[in-house]
Amino acid sequence: MLRSLYALLTLFLFCCATSLFVRTAYAQTPPAQTSTAAPEPQLSTRDVATQQATAAASGFDQVVDRAIEREHFFMAQMKQLHPLVETYLQNLKQDKELDTPVPRSDVYFLGRLDMSEGTDDRAFTSPTTAGLGKRMLSKLSNEFAFKFYPLGFAQMVVLDQDFQRKYYDFTFVRREFLGEVRCVVVDVAPKKDTGVGRFLGRIWIEDQDYNIVRFNGTYFPHPRYSYYLHFDSWRANLRPGGVWLPSLIYSEESDQKGRLGQTLNFKAQTRLWGYNLKDLRRNSEFTEITVDAPQTVHDQSQKAQDASPIEAQRQWERQAELNVIDRLQQIGLLAPEGEIDKVLSTVVNNMMVTNNIDIQPEIHCRVLMTTPLESFTIGHTIVVSRGMIDVLPDEASLAMILTHELSHIVLGHHLNTKLAFNDRMFFPDERTFERMDFARDRGEEEAADKKAIELLNNSPYKDKLGTAGLFLKAVQARAPALKNLIRGHLGDSLLNGDATRMSSLMTSSPQFDPKKTDQVAALPLGGRVKIDPWNNQLELIKTKPVAITSAAEKMPFEVTPFFPFLTRLGSATPEKAAPVPEKTAAAPTGQ
Ligand SMILES: [Zn+2]
Repeated sequence: MLRSLYALLTLFLFCCATSLFVRTAYAQTPPAQTSTAAPEPQLSTRDVATQQATAAASGFDQVVDRAIEREHFFMAQMKQLHPLVETYLQNLKQDKELDTPVPRSDVYFLGRLDMSEGTDDRAFTSPTTAGLGKRMLSKLSNEFAFKFYPLGFAQMVVLDQDFQRKYYDFTFVRREFLGEVRCVVVDVAPKKDTGVGRFLGRIWIEDQDYNIVRFNGTYFPHPRYSYYLHFDSWRANLRPGGVWLPSLIYSEESDQKGRLGQTLNFKAQTRLWGYNLKDLRRNSEFTEITVDAPQTVHDQSQKAQDASPIEAQRQWERQAELNVIDRLQQIGLLAPEGEIDKVLSTVVNNMMVTNNIDIQPEIHCRVLMTTPLESFTIGHTIVVSRGMIDVLPDEASLAMILTHELSHIVLGHHLNTKLAFNDRMFFPDERTFERMDFARDRGEEEAADKKAIELLNNSPYKDKLGTAGLFLKAVQARAPALKNLIRGHLGDSLLNGDATRMSSLMTSSPQFDPKKTDQVAALPLGGRVKIDPWNNQLELIKTKPVAITSAAEKMPFEVTPFFPFLTRLGSATPEKAAPVPEKTAAAPTGQ
């Protein structure tokens, strides 16, 4: 079965270089199925040197034993959890002028993790396999042919699905802090003849509950004809009681040779979120009550009466809007209301106040959890993607994005109200992108651009739009290589065919020069918005600006490694959120 898949995938190699990754990433999938039982290391044979050394060694052995035990608990736990997994990868080429690798193409994947049947490929239903998309929501691109592609990356949440002392040699390296969490750093290498796809690399074990909080390396040895990628996999303390779950994975290769002689050269970020979908649903029930408000009007007012035709129309549109927002939040694509919404709303309010605009119902701003750069409106709600917020260089360019959307609302561009019928919301997760489409036609886009320029020229951002124009130039410059980043999935992209949004801002902006270190037209991904993978709350990252020393460090729209500041969740934080499923506690610790 595997063999034939490889053969099939090998065919793709001739069509497209990227499919090399397909097979490569896919090869991550079967970790260590065929193991021959190695004899348990005999502790008694250890040479008794000094008493101190023995004590230290046994202390270390205990740490390793605890970590292994926790890892089995972790595996059992993961079988109950179904976070969203997003992988965004950039293939690189050397840029001679900048003397640094730059993206030449990109791949995007979004799916839902399901490890309930183990972590082999059966755990991930191929989206092209009839109707079984329940486990995997994936759409998004013509890269559909690469259906095995995401598996390899999702696999990187697991160190070894059957992590046993007998398969490995462990070497103490040092103690080290990751953020505020003190860790024991250990080098881990598989013993000989213990099967393919064991973990080889370094692990960080926090010294309170002995969870592995980071592991960096690859799987080894690789099977014939396939390769394992390197990765740096981070977990975050998401629940009290020492529950650490996968949150961020960075992967990169620059010298891995494919079988046909290609060199892998890419970098990729994988993010996980939406662990606590149950609570996101509960929140949504609350929203539904709000939708029903008109029917309970008689409780508050003696002059209850039917809505007038205009009111009814507005109410109908509002219902469609709330249905959609509710749905997007439920499945983990839209962040719950939070601090970033307020920041966005402030900018929108600035625009409205200075332009004397009064719109009812009130305009709200929300953030889409995903990386691709897009924005759109759902009724009177403006939605901006996390990736977009990350890469925008300043507030004026944010104002540009928001004002374009505000203009759609001001101009009365309507939401398709077919979504006001509740039954239209009963589609599986993975069809969200097909069923919901907020893209505008070209006419509406042009009208919104025109209106937005008018509004901006009458706002506090009027004299600061140079960077916004530069940002658009950077978008244009990188768009051919970053087709999967610079595109809309639910709404409109910054590019519409050969037209660039708000293009008139470009004419009045400075000359775009990627080599100038003091010209920052767009930021790297991941620099502004931090995700809480448990409840999807977003937070603005407050970091001091770092002085850029070379053009290579600008990395506009690019993927970079992760270095999260790890913290422990105070055990005193009482949360109404559901605890990790009870089953987990009783689950067997693997076999
Ligand atoms: Zn638009």
